[in-house]
Parts: sequence; C-alpha cells; structure tokens
Amino acid sequence: MTKKRACHIVWFRNDLRVTDNKALSSACADPEANVLAVFTATPEQWRAHDLSPRQITFIHQNLLELRHSLAQLAIPLICHTVSDFTQAAQWVLDFAQQQQADHVFFNRQYELNEQQRDQWLINQSTSFHVHAFDDALLLPPTSVTNQKGEMYQVYTPFRRAFITQLVTTDYHSAPAPQARGEKLTVPAVSTLFDYDFVDIAPHFPAGEHAARQQLRQFCRLKVKNYSQHRDIPSIDGTSQLSPYLAIGVLSPRQCLNRLLAENPHVFDSPDSGAFTWLNELIWREFYHHLLVAFPRLCRHQPFIEWTRYIQWNNSKEQLKAWQEGQTGYPIVDAAMRQLNTTGWMHNRLRMITASFLVKDLLIDWRLGEQYFMQRLIDGSLAANNGGWQWSASTGTDAQPWFRIFNPTTQGKKFDPQGEFIRQWLPELQAVPDKYIHSPHEWAESNQLKLNYPKPIVDHKQARLNTLEAFEASKRDS
Ligand code: FAD
Repeated sequence: MTKKRACHIVWFRNDLRVTDNKALSSACADPEANVLAVFTATPEQWRAHDLSPRQITFIHQNLLELRHSLAQLAIPLICHTVSDFTQAAQWVLDFAQQQQADHVFFNRQYELNEQQRDQWLINQSTSFHVHAFDDALLLPPTSVTNQKGEMYQVYTPFRRAFITQLVTTDYHSAPAPQARGEKLTVPAVSTLFDYDFVDIAPHFPAGEHAARQQLRQFCRLKVKNYSQHRDIPSIDGTSQLSPYLAIGVLSPRQCLNRLLAENPHVFDSPDSGAFTWLNELIWREFYHHLLVAFPRLCRHQPFIEWTRYIQWNNSKEQLKAWQEGQTGYPIVDAAMRQLNTTGWMHNRLRMITASFLVKDLLIDWRLGEQYFMQRLIDGSLAANNGGWQWSASTGTDAQPWFRIFNPTTQGKKFDPQGEFIRQWLPELQAVPDKYIHSPHEWAESNQLKLNYPKPIVDHKQARLNTLEAFEASKRDS
C-alpha cells in the first residue's frame, strides 16, 4: 500500500514572496509533501477599515506575481474571498479539514485582531498542526526588553539593545523552497478577487524580483549619501521600499543582508549612510514591538494618557483643505498632493503635514492617521500609528508637545529653492525662489492674483492656541 503524501497548507498574508519566507520554506522542507498555498481576500473589510485602494491594488498585483512564482515550484495558489477575517480563519479551517491537511503554516501578524484570529485557528485545529513563524521583523516582539523584562519606551536604548541582540542572531534568509515537481501552468484568469482596482505609479512595479532589484540599487548607489539626502524631498534619496515591506514582498532580513553585503562594517560605522538606513529599519521594528506590548495602540488610543483630554477643534473645512492640499502653506500642500496622486509621501513631509494638521489646525491626529491609511500604498498600522503619535506628541518617545514645527521654516530648510513645491503646485511655477514659501507676499507686492489659497491659519496664533489646548489637557487630566 502506498503511503498517503502529507498535505501542507501555507496561509499567505503580509508575506507575498517566495524567497526568504519562513512559513513557505518550512512547508516545503519535506520534499514528499503536497504543498497548497492559500490567500484569503477580505475586500469588504479592507474597505471598512480604510485600507487604501492603491494598497489593495498593489496586494492584488503582487498576488498575481506570487501565483506565478509558486507555479514554478508546482505549488498552486488558491485565493478565496470572504467578508472579514473571522470568516477567513473559518474558511482556512474548513479547507484544511476538507483537504485532510496535516500541517498549516503561516507567518504571524502582530495587530491585535490578527493575533486573535490566529489564536482562534490554533484552538480549533484538532485534525492538523499549526506552525506560526516570526518572519515579518528582524527580531520578534517581546524579545528585546529592558532589565525589568519590559518593552523599552524610549527608542535609543531600544536600538542599542536591539543591535546587541541582532548581531548574535541568525538573520540569514530562510532556505529557498524546493519545487514539488513539474511547473504548473498558471490559469489564464487575471483577477484573483473582485475590486475596483486603480492605477499604481510606475515606480512601484509589482513582484519580489522588482523589489529586490530596487533594494540592490539602493544599497549599491544611494545608501552612502542617505544621511545627507534623506530629508530633501526633491532628491530621490530614500529607498522607496516601504510599499514592498508593508505587504511583505520584501523582508527586513533581505534588506539587512543586502545592506551588509555592500557595507560589511555597518554595525561599527554609526556615522555612515548605511547605519542611518539601518536605524530607520529599526524604527519599523520599534513600532511593531510597541503594538504588541501596548495593544491599546491597535485601538488608536494615545500612548500618553493625559493627551486623551485635548479639546480638538476638528473643523471640517480645515480638514478638507489639508486633505486636498489647499492650506496656503506650499510645503504642506505639495506634500498632500504627492500623497493624493501617488499614494506615497516622503518621510520629512509626513512629519510636516502631520504636525500641521495637529499643531496648526488642532485637528485630532486620528483623523490624519485615518486619511493617510485611506491613501497610502505603504499603509502599516504600526508605522502609521507610530508616526502620527510621534508627530502629535501623544506617543512614546514622541516630539515634545511644546515643540511645534513652523511649516514655512520647514519648507525653507528642506526645499529651499522650492523644487519639490513647484513639482506639485503648478500654480506657483512663476513665483521666484525667494517667495516660494510665502507666495502671496510676492503676488501682493506685484499686484498679481494667485490661483492659490492664502494661509488658512496664522501659524503664530495657531501655535499659541495649541500650546494652550495641550496645557489645559495636561492640567485637567
Ligand atoms: P527609507 O528611508 O528608505 O527607510 C527604509 C524603510 O524603513 C522604509 O521603507 C520603512 O519600512 C522603514 N521606515 C523608515 N522610516 C520609518 C519610520 N519613521 N517609522 C517606521 N518605519 C520606518 N511608514 C510605513 O511604512 N507605513 C506607514 O503607514 C507610515 N506612516 C507614517 C506616518 C507618519 C505621520 C510618519 C511621520 C511616518 C510614517 N511612516 C510610515 C514612516 C516613513 O515615513 C516611511 O516608512 C518612509 O517615508 C518610507 O519611505 P522609504 O521606503 O523611502 O524609506
């Protein structure tokens, strides 16, 4: 009697790649096992949770690529649409039972609902074994703690401890998955789930091959100037890999290994561009570790308790002006139009626009956080929440609440000639460099009319109002 071949199911989620994928690699370790890949699409829930159409489209494009790569390994990808992730876990359970699967493999997600979903599957899995992997980060949450065994609340000591631990950890990529047999023919169907897909900027081509190529080029050519260029939005000086990292088309281990291949001494060169880039990858880790240590962050609660009581202004008109890039502050408006048009925004500009919404307009940071998620192609709860709470001074190790960016000064410092501004605000093309950050001064002195709004708030006054609102909240809490 021939022995039944073991059946292994890999449940893909935010890990849409074949290389360096711990769950896939483990599922393929037994060369005799049949391996099936599944993906559960939840477009209804993505819509309800404000995931951006660009990111959903990008997920879909990358799934098509993944299906192709899996077919080369003779692994079919089954994509099933369900209404929400409770249903997703139920479907995986039913499917595994129907296939008489022996093992189900997946890489952990760290958001609260996702953790609960996975726990549910583990509890229900009586007829198969579940194997969950820490794959999305360089070091798993809860593994980097202070002497009391608690999560660090300040970034710099976290980074120090993180690096000490990282250098003694095996961060090599997971073994390449072995093919199951003959390549499969990819079915002609080109849509894996129904959705109103949108256009994606051509500089984010789908697929892990494209992502790795972009990583290689960045590490070879740009990383050495990263420290000088990373704050200048008119320079293409950052990696722009965030869309790939957010949905796992690229892993942070791949980033670290490539960085080390080009810069073997990165850990000992704190002034190098390579180290500065590594530092950003560690911010990504920090924010994920925080989510797990403080699950209330997943519910969009502020980290600093007293900031809960801030009396926000929440003007609908001002929120709309900010969203549409019509605030009359050129650097803010150019940034918001970059976001609306491409789904991506430069980090310095994320800080400036977030600060403007919260500290100049006194609008609740959660409205900004939500708007970013609705628009970003790289939306990530951990990084977005972390970035917003940093900017709003409600987070751990955040910008102190009394430090308020001046949007005009920020513009002058990081886009002195207005190169970036002119790229996104064609209505300011004719404004001379000297006035690009205050174009109405120029228009008035030349008796011209600009097709561009006057500043919707006076920064000096807005600053005072915000300081008062924060002070009152602190005092009364
Ligand atoms: P690089 O400078 O090349 O950095 C490399 C990678 O490190 C990035 O791809 C990203 O994965 C990670 N990274 C860099 N900076 C940070 C940071 N400050 N926090 C966490 N991770 C970081 N990043 C997201 O990936 N998704 C978000 O939804 C997101 N929302 C943000 C909201 C606000 C208000 C702020 C201030 C920052 C936000 N960031 C977010 C962080 C950062 O702006 C982006 O990661 C970065 O701009 C992406 O561009 P890049 O890939 O060229 O980054």
